[in-house]
Amino acid sequence: MLPIPPMMLTTGPVPVYPEVLEALGKPVLYDYEPAFQNFYAGVIEKLRLALRQDNAPVIMQGEAILGIEAAAAALIGKNDVVLNLVSGVYGKGFAGWAARYGRQVIELAVPYNDIIDPQAVRDTLRQRPDITIVSLCHHDTPSGTLNPLHEIGRIVAEHGAYLIVDAVSSFGGMDVHPQDAHVDIFITSPSKCLGSTPGLSLISVSERAWVKIEANPDAPCGSFLSLLGWKGASEPGAPFPVTPSIAEIYALDAALDRYAAEGPEHVWTRHAQTAAIARNGLLELGLKLWPKKPEYCAPTATAFKIPEGFSDTQLRDRLRNEHGILLSLGRADTAGKLLRVGHMGVSANPDFARATITALSQILSRPLGPNNN
Ligand SMILES: *Cc1c(COP(=O)(O)O)cnc(C)c1O
Repeated sequence: MLPIPPMMLTTGPVPVYPEVLEALGKPVLYDYEPAFQNFYAGVIEKLRLALRQDNAPVIMQGEAILGIEAAAAALIGKNDVVLNLVSGVYGKGFAGWAARYGRQVIELAVPYNDIIDPQAVRDTLRQRPDITIVSLCHHDTPSGTLNPLHEIGRIVAEHGAYLIVDAVSSFGGMDVHPQDAHVDIFITSPSKCLGSTPGLSLISVSERAWVKIEANPDAPCGSFLSLLGWKGASEPGAPFPVTPSIAEIYALDAALDRYAAEGPEHVWTRHAQTAAIARNGLLELGLKLWPKKPEYCAPTATAFKIPEGFSDTQLRDRLRNEHGILLSLGRADTAGKLLRVGHMGVSANPDFARATITALSQILSRPLGPNNN
């Protein structure tokens, strides 16, 4: 069996903070016990503060795809026309859910090393005033590219459409919050930049989106996919629709405390600095970034092209076996073309970016590897 790589610089799940690991060892409480219900309400409040929003967010008890699919099911009614913005694998994936619930899905797509142009969004909304919902993946992780959410958010708000955003791999690692960006449903995860475990979806829903969801006769009710079922679940005495993932809630609580104690601005700077060191180091080695322009690169993951003479798995395996550094491969359309260095939570550490560059420089100077010499 291979040893566990000491440096797991993946793009999620990521190594968790020590405080999170410790919280996972706490006694499991009965969910109807007031002590747990009060604790849960406290976690919702900490999450609300982290998200910098006025109303209470909801937590769904499954990894972030649950939240994204639930958002589509709740908000998109059969009269809705959805503009799906596609700059990568996750953005593209949303189209399937949008098509399941909506009347029509219009796609505005760019190559997966590029980002969405806000002007193109404005033009599409002008041409199609019947668009009622826009969906965007903020950081499309398999490409390491970051979309201009704030500009797009302003344009969508002017048009009056609702905006659904997958911010799974950006929130907690940079300055992005639902209200600042005019987002109606904002989905994130504890298992990326917050440095907690996979297993929950963290969702902010604007008041006007709740009104639309409540008026949507097809929004799931009495279903595991029901976003509505979790509305108000943190209010005193309110029942949970299903048993919450108690240990994951403890872990999230510890991660939110850590985020607040370190200070969000400090956390974001740490992510940005780590990513800058990774980008500059890769370029100095003569490697090429996957995103078309350096300014498209996300601060939470750095994707670079596989150099000639290597395959993605060869390079990944050598980093792992010779240097103890685990990177993520590409995914779907980007598979085989790139490797990704995650800078998320614990791994947003400049020393890890430097270690990756040193390891890559050694491998590139000895392309055949120890076993092939
Ligand atoms: C990690 C991630 C998710 C969560 O989904 P998985 O594919 O199950 O990991 C959703 N959206 C984005 C952009 C992610 O990076």
